[in-house]
Amino acid sequence: MEMSGLINFFYIVSAILFVLGIKMLGSATTARRGNRLSSVGMLIAVVVTLIDKQVFDSWIWIVAGIGAGAVIGFFAAKLVKMTSMPEMVALFNGFGGLASMFVGWAEYQKVVDAKSGIMGNLSIASIDHFTASVIFLAVFIGGITFTGSMYAWGKLSGKISGTAKIFTGQKAFNMIIVLGILITGILYASAPGADNAYGLFLAFVVLSLLLGIFGVMPIGGGDMPVVISLLNSCSGLAACAAGFVIQNNVLIVAGCLVGASGLILSIIMCKAMNRTIPNVLFSGFGATAQKSGGKQEGEMKPMSNEDAYYVLEAASSVVFVPGYGMAVAQAQHAVKELGEILEANGAEVRYAIHPVAGRMPGHMNVLLAEADVPYEQLSEMDDVNPIMSTIDVAIVIGANDVVNPAAEDDPSSPIYGMPIIKVFEAKTVFALKRGQGAGFSGLVNQLFFRENTRMLYGDAKATVTGLVGQFKS
Ligand code: NDP
Repeated sequence: MEMSGLINFFYIVSAILFVLGIKMLGSATTARRGNRLSSVGMLIAVVVTLIDKQVFDSWIWIVAGIGAGAVIGFFAAKLVKMTSMPEMVALFNGFGGLASMFVGWAEYQKVVDAKSGIMGNLSIASIDHFTASVIFLAVFIGGITFTGSMYAWGKLSGKISGTAKIFTGQKAFNMIIVLGILITGILYASAPGADNAYGLFLAFVVLSLLLGIFGVMPIGGGDMPVVISLLNSCSGLAACAAGFVIQNNVLIVAGCLVGASGLILSIIMCKAMNRTIPNVLFSGFGATAQKSGGKQEGEMKPMSNEDAYYVLEAASSVVFVPGYGMAVAQAQHAVKELGEILEANGAEVRYAIHPVAGRMPGHMNVLLAEADVPYEQLSEMDDVNPIMSTIDVAIVIGANDVVNPAAEDDPSSPIYGMPIIKVFEAKTVFALKRGQGAGFSGLVNQLFFRENTRMLYGDAKATVTGLVGQFKS
């Protein structure tokens, strides 16, 4: 087999490992193996590319880069809290976008330098329209992804306010930037060797970086994870364009995989919130939702751990509904222990998982898997809702928006229409939270005022541990 055939063969092996790896990420039991498989695919791709391009004289830089990346990645993965995962993904996306932008820029810089005589090789003093176009795409999408992700990281980490920022004429302003990028991009790609092409190139670099910031600015609150997922998709598209720029097949395939999976994830998240991607991007939801209140009827009725124990002791069916608060409290191990005690006491125990509970897709599945909660006890929202009225006690652990009945019965609510876990239909609801704090949408939750709801105030882990203690004593 010829060298180029062999290289492409290994690229196909890498691509197959990526696809299998992504498939295995779909289940908590195979996710780790899937991650390792994809990493092996990436290692093969890197080594084969180095051999293909014969990059041996600068190997020391490459080894140093791999080493530095591995050390930073190892410690970042060890130290990052599960609730900070979206921030970490934002950083990954941002740097992925920046890398693609630099690949495109470096390729065009070669042309500029050759033209100006800095580099002697005049044969590359111009490029064809196709290469110029994919350079434009790599720089444009990479630039938006970089600044958009950095801005999103700032919002999620609390470095800047997380709410949506809206100013008059914002949409028109963003539209002008988009037009500016398109006009400069088309003029540049139609004559990439012209004297003014470098100026046009630099103009759309700057405009793309600006669009990342102004595009993410009007998005806030609970929509941020969707934005992260969309930026993830963009980082894949930018990598794909960079793959066309340097004609590297595996980069094109990997970029497409990231682009498609990020888009699919964004669509799944939007569906679970009863939203559309344009609505998330352009409605300024974070700004409006936080202002909305919601009607309040009745009062919240607190209950002590002792009284809750007597109710649970008599229960023959219990559903746990975990939410973001369980992640904050790291209560999953205590919850599993309580579940086992309730089972031993004769109750049927289930864990109902809402697709957008927590702050990232699969957040609750990951936490419950970490606590070794048996897979067969996990129920999806659509499976548990039809039997909710037969459940003796629904224990809501730091969940709020995903159990808010306003989504069902208040057409004026911003979350009206969002599918929820209908705990309000259970015979008794225990809501575990620290105080009167709102959910991510900022809305008042009428569930907590209902007749069949009792509030168990305090940190979720402390409360569940207290209930376990009641059973043990
Ligand atoms: P919410 O953010 O709605 O509510 C969390 C609740 O947990 C708060 O009311 C808070 O009340 C309570 N809480 C916080 N810390 C603790 C603690 N230590 N102990 C006990 N309770 C605590 O969470 P949900 O999971 O119900 O909803 C997720 C939200 O995020 C939805 O709005 C969803 O649309 C959004 N979202 C999720 C995405 C995902 O992929 N998962 C993606 C995009 C958006 P208090 O302060 O009183 O304790």
